[in-house]
Amino acid sequence: MAKPGALSLQPSGPCSNGSTTRRLLTGYEGDGAGPAAPGAELWPDSHGRAVVAVPNDIDVFGLAALGMVIADLTGRLRRVNHEFARLVGRSELELLGMLFNSLTSPVDIDLGNRAMARLLENTDETVSFDKRYLRPDGSVVWAELNIRSLTCANGDVYGFLAQAVDITDRRRAETATRIERQRLDEVQHMAGLGSFEQDPVSGAIFPSGELCRILGLPTSKTVALSTLMGRVHHEDRAALGRALRECLDGGAPVDLVHRLSGTDRTARWVHTRACSMVGEDGQGKVLGTTLDITSRKRAEDALEFHTFHDSLTGLANRALFLSEVDKVLLETGRPAEPVAVLFLDLDEFKTVNDSLGHTAGDRLLRAVAGRLQSVTPAGDVLARLGGDEFALLLRSGSMPQVAQQVAGLIEDAFSLPFNVNGNEVPVSASIGIATSHPLARTSEDLLRDADLAMYLAKQNGKARTEMVRPGLQDQALKRLALISDLHQALANGELEVFYQPIVGAHDRAPVGAESLVRWYHRRRGLVSPVDFVNVAESTGYIVPLGHWVLREACRQLQAWRQAGTVDDQFYVSVNLSPRQLAEPGLVDDVGRALIDFELPARCLVLEVTESTFTLGFDAGLARLQELKLIGLRIALDDYGTGYSSLNRLGRLPIDIVKIDKSFIDRLLVSPEGRALVQSVLDVTHALGKISIAEGVEQAEQCDTLADLGCDHIQGYLFARPMPADEAARVLAQLTACSAPPTGVRPPENAMRH
Ligand code: C2E
Ligand code: MG
Ligand code: MG
Repeated sequence: MAKPGALSLQPSGPCSNGSTTRRLLTGYEGDGAGPAAPGAELWPDSHGRAVVAVPNDIDVFGLAALGMVIADLTGRLRRVNHEFARLVGRSELELLGMLFNSLTSPVDIDLGNRAMARLLENTDETVSFDKRYLRPDGSVVWAELNIRSLTCANGDVYGFLAQAVDITDRRRAETATRIERQRLDEVQHMAGLGSFEQDPVSGAIFPSGELCRILGLPTSKTVALSTLMGRVHHEDRAALGRALRECLDGGAPVDLVHRLSGTDRTARWVHTRACSMVGEDGQGKVLGTTLDITSRKRAEDALEFHTFHDSLTGLANRALFLSEVDKVLLETGRPAEPVAVLFLDLDEFKTVNDSLGHTAGDRLLRAVAGRLQSVTPAGDVLARLGGDEFALLLRSGSMPQVAQQVAGLIEDAFSLPFNVNGNEVPVSASIGIATSHPLARTSEDLLRDADLAMYLAKQNGKARTEMVRPGLQDQALKRLALISDLHQALANGELEVFYQPIVGAHDRAPVGAESLVRWYHRRRGLVSPVDFVNVAESTGYIVPLGHWVLREACRQLQAWRQAGTVDDQFYVSVNLSPRQLAEPGLVDDVGRALIDFELPARCLVLEVTESTFTLGFDAGLARLQELKLIGLRIALDDYGTGYSSLNRLGRLPIDIVKIDKSFIDRLLVSPEGRALVQSVLDVTHALGKISIAEGVEQAEQCDTLADLGCDHIQGYLFARPMPADEAARVLAQLTACSAPPTGVRPPENAMRH
């Protein structure tokens, strides 16, 4: 007997006895009205009356709408039906005797062999699989195969019956769907856009591959809602959960920008949108997208930072500072709680920039920002307003005391020099303080007042702090007008050089004269250089102005030399500001003036102040060395007002030390004052330099200085600065009156030899 699972359809198989064709349809026998023809059965017609003679050898195999094949154990086709022949694109006749595998697409032969092996191992089994047939025209068709073994009555397998359903269309549709899905995945990936559906009952999420990637989850078909929520930033979790619930329950669309988990810096930003819709099954469900907007958000944040911060130092910029001040003014508008703004401007920063270069300047500004930050009270705002200007908003504590304390801390913080590219750069700052009450109402007012106070600090000598006070604005306006007028002064011929004679301390004979510029303002009259030289320095106008003074002084000296007013050794000194020293063309200008006015270099002295040497001003120093090489002498002006210690004097490239008036003023006042001048003179002479006392007004001062060994004297005692023609007369008088020293020690370093 055949096993119950194995089909015993055996019309012409090797086990057939040739006599039996089983009745396929039974149950109607006896119902019919007439005798059945031989080989036919009787069936009722559609009305249940007539009798239809149905042949009992219906060729089911041949008529079947699915392909059917019987193959022997060697895999040769023994019987095929029409549908199978259609499927594989050959005629039934042609197929008989062909090997089953010869029809199969080479790529699926192994698959077929493995299935057959399984079937042979367990004849009970039916194997099903999909495979491809290769048609003679080269086209491929897909079939879903179902194969079972055929057994004889004794149970021996003699062949296989295969049923093949043409699934080519389905497969194509599936492939198209898969490609579509892949494309969608790729597009989603490119767009950083994930999509999902939410199951209304379980709440589970069916995520797209891209959503899994965005969430940092392995790709999977479904994700529990709790897993998804676990990937959402803890601060945003409740909002997203609420939005999804409201969408599912009430259909409210979700439109939420939120973070995914991570620290604030690593958290990713996404934009989740969702809406509810009714699925094919009639159930409501949530359909949504999640867009990765991290890079956009970071770009927005960076843009916002850039808009409100200074890119060099990372500090708040002017716009942010003003808005912070406005905010606090609105909060603390009450008179009892004034706030303060400190406006800080570095002194001589331009010189550093010009001499060390802009990169070094930038480095210095960053270092300055660091030190300012270290003294800024927590919670207060420090900003860089631009260039070398900084501002500080102080919000708590009683003002202006707290502001003054902080200004003191800033001065302390700047007491050590900065190291920029290996150069020690001492930096000081001028600071202005304004408080919100009662002068300033808006942030602009407050900042402007602090700015004015800062200018006052600059005018009063720099490296100091000034408070805003009434009337300051008028002064500032005057100063602005002064700047604009000054720029016309040269062209309008309003400038003149005055000369102040310098005499030998012992014989009182003139040795030289200092050139000092004067400005006759058409409305204000004579303006002191104290009032406009600093201004010219800060605007850069000192460069053309100084150039003019230099050439004018050289011209005048040559005129005096030619007129016999002065002798061959007589010199003029010209004041040189740090800004002029930063000019690369200075040495050429000086050389050109000497040539144009036919002067020996020894007749020109350039006066520089100590600040020239305290700024890590290498380019300036190199320029001074060059000037010395062509024979000029350099005088250190106002010695004693800056930082230079006596030890340092020896290291500076100078020939003359001009002792500041403040020392001379103390000379006769106390033994200490005298001792101080004495030690400056001693060191100057020990270093082989010449000494000049400035601002000598009294004969007694002059005598004492001569006793102490001072070489030359300059001061009102002998002559005030005066126009050239007047100076010529005074010089002639001084020469005439000068007496050879009697009984007095001759000066050791006299410039006359
Ligand atoms: P300075 O170079 O130290 O010039 C000496 C200043 O002291 C002059 O002031 C002079 O008039 C004043 N002086 C001289 N003897 C006496 C005295 O016995 N008593 C008193 N009380 N003062 C005395 P001045 O002319 O007002 O110039 C002030 C400063 O302006 C100069 O100081 C110098 O730093 C600057 N300056 C003047 N002309 C020029 C210039 O052409 N270029 C540059 N860069 N600076 C200049
Ligand atoms: Mg001078
Ligand atoms: Mg001086």
